[in-house]
Amino acid sequence: MARQYFVGGNFKMNPTTREQKRALIKILNSADIDPQTEVVIAPPSLYLIPVLELLRKDIKVAAQNCHAKASGAFTGEISAVQLVDAGVPYVILGHSERRSLFHETSEIVAAKTRAALDAGLKIILCVGETLEEREGGKTQDVVQAQLKAVIAVLKPEDWSRIVIAYEPVWAIGTGKVATAAQAQETHAETRTFLASAVSPAIAESTRIIYGGSVTASNCNNITCQADVDGFLVGGASLKPEFVDIINARR
Ligand code: PEP
Repeated sequence: MARQYFVGGNFKMNPTTREQKRALIKILNSADIDPQTEVVIAPPSLYLIPVLELLRKDIKVAAQNCHAKASGAFTGEISAVQLVDAGVPYVILGHSERRSLFHETSEIVAAKTRAALDAGLKIILCVGETLEEREGGKTQDVVQAQLKAVIAVLKPEDWSRIVIAYEPVWAIGTGKVATAAQAQETHAETRTFLASAVSPAIAESTRIIYGGSVTASNCNNITCQADVDGFLVGGASLKPEFVDIINARR
């Protein structure tokens, strides 16, 4: 069965006013969006509930993080159980900014993934290497190590709720997008790894999307690669061109 094309928008800690947030939603609500594409936007946690209320229902909403525990003395955190109760269907986990700036190890990402799945969420699981690791020929070692930690806590039935986002750290927010060949190579190798580490059927059905400085003007070459099943978009998801990226495969 063909994998459904997926485009996510990671707003990060943007926008900074509710008015700007409403303007972004207005653009999406009036856009002509390919109905074959699954679209998910991840606003800051403060805006999750108003976005759920304002946003058209064929676009889904993701949190950018969650805690591994369901409740308790974890000041400043939000749990997967709370996200589900609020009506949020997706969460982004393992984003490189969480890994590097907030010291999230792959084991922490795995614990959050398990908790999120148990609560009923779907996961956009981010993996990717630094420039130094790529230049040292370690891209697959890094991606596989990040994935192995999560695979260790997954059951076969969980995979239908996992989207893998390959996001090279050197491409995130830098304006340096991977070439179509680099993205295809890493996605294909990751799929081959999934076939041996999990199963050929799960490797075939799991969506692997690319993230890192994707814009409307650079997405066309990447989108036609066989193992690229969509995008996770940061900066450009805050602009009207996000709609062009969503529709790139039309
Ligand atoms: C991201 O933060 O997931 C991302 C891909 O950011 P950008 O598109 O801005 O590089």
